[in-house]
Amino acid sequence: MTTTMPSIQVVAAKPGAMEVREADVPSIKPNEVLIKVRAAAVCGSDLHLYQWDESIRPKLLRASDNFKHGVIAGHEFCGHVVEIGSAVGTIMDDPAVKLAKGDFVSAESHVVCGKCYQCTRGEKHVCVNDKVIGFDRNGAWASYIALDASCVWKNDADLPFEIAAIQEPLGNAMHAAAHFPLKGQRVAIVGLGPIGMFSAVIALMHGAEKVIAVEISETRARIAREIGVHDVIMGRIARTPEERVAERARIQGLIREAAGLDGPDVVLEMSGHPDAITNSVKAVRRGGKVIAFGLPKDAAYTFDDYSKDVIWNGITIQGIIGRRIYDTWYKVRELVRQPEARAKLRKIITEVLPYTEFRGGIERMLKGEAGKVVLEFA
Ligand SMILES: [Zn+2]
Ligand SMILES: [Zn+2]
Repeated sequence: MTTTMPSIQVVAAKPGAMEVREADVPSIKPNEVLIKVRAAAVCGSDLHLYQWDESIRPKLLRASDNFKHGVIAGHEFCGHVVEIGSAVGTIMDDPAVKLAKGDFVSAESHVVCGKCYQCTRGEKHVCVNDKVIGFDRNGAWASYIALDASCVWKNDADLPFEIAAIQEPLGNAMHAAAHFPLKGQRVAIVGLGPIGMFSAVIALMHGAEKVIAVEISETRARIAREIGVHDVIMGRIARTPEERVAERARIQGLIREAAGLDGPDVVLEMSGHPDAITNSVKAVRRGGKVIAFGLPKDAAYTFDDYSKDVIWNGITIQGIIGRRIYDTWYKVRELVRQPEARAKLRKIITEVLPYTEFRGGIERMLKGEAGKVVLEFA
């Protein structure tokens, strides 16, 4: 085997500083496996890396030792096992099954400690010592990645590679959309980035009575209609404070009208825009539920009328991070085995590119012109 490999690395502390560089093929520890990457997807958080946003700086500065060396990005991928460490036993996915060379796998991107209080109570997704691949350590945008075997998820051998590569973000959507049962519910999804879009697929496949979405981009609204979203409300960009007040009232009215009755049963806030958070909290019906997933840019959010909107209306707000390990993965597997779900997911994956063309894919995602972008490494 060759000893070096191409990889996409973040190489400096400034926007756009991502390039293809040769790296050493990683060697594995006894508890790790070496995976030959088939394909990897571009995540919203990778766009934050590319833009060098405040939110990801501390992790990258630590992982790169203040950019004495680059960090390989990427955390959503699939590939084949090519080498297995001496201490690797059975796998989480199936306690009776040992990993074997040639297995087609994906991986949980959060490497958890297994020892903290949360881990021992079966809440590994909120491990206090978790390390994320592609941020805290080298990631999967490379020909090979070495990974703790406890993070490896074995795929069905016939799962199409582009779908296998997006299971990690699809798991975020599953965690968000399946937290409250959606069967027979009227659901509003605010923000149709890839995870909002995946959530729409899940809501539809899980039997929601009505799925409404709010989005600004025409491209994304069109994809949402194609996958079967019943009603897409087009948001407008408001510039002045007066325009923002009027736009919020307009959107809240349209969401309630589309849902009928007193408003939707469940709202999934997937955008992180402060006005969208306010719209979600105000448009949900009394006693309804709001899933909080989108991250506000500067991390701050102020409730408009906390007493009325949250307390008197008796709503539930649930924050969602990562995936339940491995409960969410089993739910994702059940979803991607269904041909109807695969067909819908393929409409959201708008580009499958050779990895060398990553920059164009990222730029189009930033402009809202692309859905999910998958990069091929083999
Ligand atoms: Zn991601
Ligand atoms: Zn832990």
